[in-house]
This record gives sequence, C-alpha cells and structure tokens, in this order.
Amino acid sequence: MSEKNIIDAWGDLDITDYDHLFKQFGMKKFEDLDISNHHIFKRKLIIAHRDFDRIKDSIVNKKRFAQITGIASSGQMHFGHKLDVDFFMEFKKLGALSKFIVADIDAYLSRPDSKVPDMKKAKEVAVENVMDLLALGISKDDIFVQSRMCPEYFQLSFECSKKITENQFKGIYGHINPGKLGAVLLQLSDILFVQSDQVFGKCPTITGIGLEQDPHARAVRNVSKMINYDFTVPSFFYFTHQAGLKEGKKMSASTPDTAILLSDSDKDVKKKINRAFTGGRETAEEQREIGGNSAVCKVYEMQKFHNPSDAELSEIDAKCKSGEMLCGECKKKCIDYLHGFLGEHRTKRESFKSDAEKMVYGK
Ligand code: SF4
Repeated sequence: MSEKNIIDAWGDLDITDYDHLFKQFGMKKFEDLDISNHHIFKRKLIIAHRDFDRIKDSIVNKKRFAQITGIASSGQMHFGHKLDVDFFMEFKKLGALSKFIVADIDAYLSRPDSKVPDMKKAKEVAVENVMDLLALGISKDDIFVQSRMCPEYFQLSFECSKKITENQFKGIYGHINPGKLGAVLLQLSDILFVQSDQVFGKCPTITGIGLEQDPHARAVRNVSKMINYDFTVPSFFYFTHQAGLKEGKKMSASTPDTAILLSDSDKDVKKKINRAFTGGRETAEEQREIGGNSAVCKVYEMQKFHNPSDAELSEIDAKCKSGEMLCGECKKKCIDYLHGFLGEHRTKRESFKSDAEKMVYGK
C-alpha cells in the first residue's frame, strides 16, 4: 500500500510512519488507555481514533452509546480475530449497547471466487464464525447475520448509494469494482443501522478497526452527514493487528502457517509455534550470554496480545532478555497456554453448532 494518498482497504498495510499517516488522514493518537484495566488497553494495542471523546464522555457519565463491529465470513477465525472479540467484550462491559455482524454477503462480494465462490460457501463459513463468536462469550442477541437482516437495513444501504458520488469513492478507495462497491454499501449500513429505530436509535457509536480499514470509516462518516436520517457521526478506534507467525507476514487464515486458527488441533498449534519466527540467537550459548530479542519475536507477541497475566508476560520478557530462558522452553509455555485455551474453546464451539445454523439459515 502507499501511505501517500490512498489506503487500500482490501490490501496489506505496511506502515512505516504513523505520525505521517495520522496527519494525512486526520486520525488522532489514542491516549485514553486508562479507560479500562483490560490488558488490551494497558498494553497499548489501540493506537488512534476518530472522535473517541464522545464515547469517553458516554462511558464516564454513563450515557447511552453503542458499538458495532464485525467479520466478513471468508475464512476460519484466528487469534487476530479473537482480538476484535476481546475489544467487543470489553466495550460491552464498559456499557455499550452491542452488535457484532457476521457479513456473509460482504465476504462473497469482496473476496475472489477462489476464496468464496458462492453464497453457499459464505454461509457455511458464517456458521463456523458464529460458533466461534458464541464460544468466545458473545450473546446470541448481540449477533447479526448480514443475509438475514430486515428490509430496512437493505433500504438504508441503497439510500447511502444515492449520496456518494463516483469521485468521492475514487478519492477514498482509488478504483473500485461493482462487487466491492456493493460490499462497501453494506458496510455503511452495518455501521449506521444500529442508530435506526429498528435497533438502538440515535446515539454515539464506536467501531474498532485496523488502520487499513480507515477508508470505510471515512466513507461512513461522510455519508452519515448526507443521508436523510438523524444519526450521530460514528466514532472509530484503530488497533494494531497481531502480526503473522512468520517474519514479515500478516496473520491470515489463507496462509495457515501464519496464524493459529480457533479451530486448530493441538498438533497444528505445536507445529506452528515451533516453526514461528523468534528473536532467538544463532546458538544457545550466545542466547545465554546476550539474551533474546522479544521485541521482534512472534511467540512473545502471541503472549502479549492474548495472555491476560501481566506477571507472566513480564517474567517471559525478563527471562528472555537476560538469557535465563531459551526459545524451546518459551515456546512450550506458549503452546501450553494455547492448548489450554483452545481445549476449552473447542468443546464450547461444538455445543453451539445448532444455534449457529439456526442463526445463519433461519432453521
Ligand atoms: Fe521469543 Fe521467548 Fe525466544 Fe525470547 S525466549 S526470543 S520471547 S521465543
């Protein structure tokens, strides 16, 4: 992607200069890390925002506000997606009225046929995603499945289409094909519809996204001022994505070695963590002498994003840097943590299969 003029909402964003990006596109640095004690706040995983002030005001003064986030059902969920859910669960605790959308139509429209060839596939994946979401603790009442939304949702999407010009689309997205245009129109409705009378009514809303999704944020904020509805301009926060397990790779379900999937077996987890990129040294002797480099290590990053224990994280960091612990022992700790988490998750997700099928197929 180019940080110069356009962010590719469907591409890989490799940021080298955050300050320049924030200035160019008008985001602000996120500084309200003390709004929650959850490790995802304390560890500075949120980096920027648009209009978070009105959400902070709602949290502090116990006023109504809502959150809307979601996932395109184009593949199995991985630990990067779990972070979206962690944020969602935490904002719910902070008082947000909440909706999480499983975007099956969007997945089919915006992904290549090699990945999502038809709606049948998008819905099959949606069932898997809903099973994961329920197992991670999201309530059934808080989940929307896009293809099962009410007529007013689709009406709003078409109304948005009338207000955006071709030039505005090009200015935000660069070039865009009709499938992606359709997906964008649905995303506008995903975010705005929570303020409709059918859902929560007018209120401030917050959506957490990765920086590469900023074109959608700018599009929906623009359109919210132009359509014939009385909506509050949506607020956004931007979080850092967990990187892939390999050096320089994004975490992606399409490249399975880069990601731990929530549906992975214990054997897969062990294999992937053992092959992950680390900050270990050439030899055990050298590592004992000068210590490892946790700052570049994907095993450490997995712990930083997902292990809630601050004490354990500090111990790993200290023992790595002092050379007291070598990568084999450290990987084993990470594997044990993931096995424990996924063992419970697997059992829970299977128990939600029939609920998930009903939510996606309506029967
Ligand atoms: Fe990474 Fe752990 Fe090795 Fe340090 S000891 S480089 S944190 S795997």
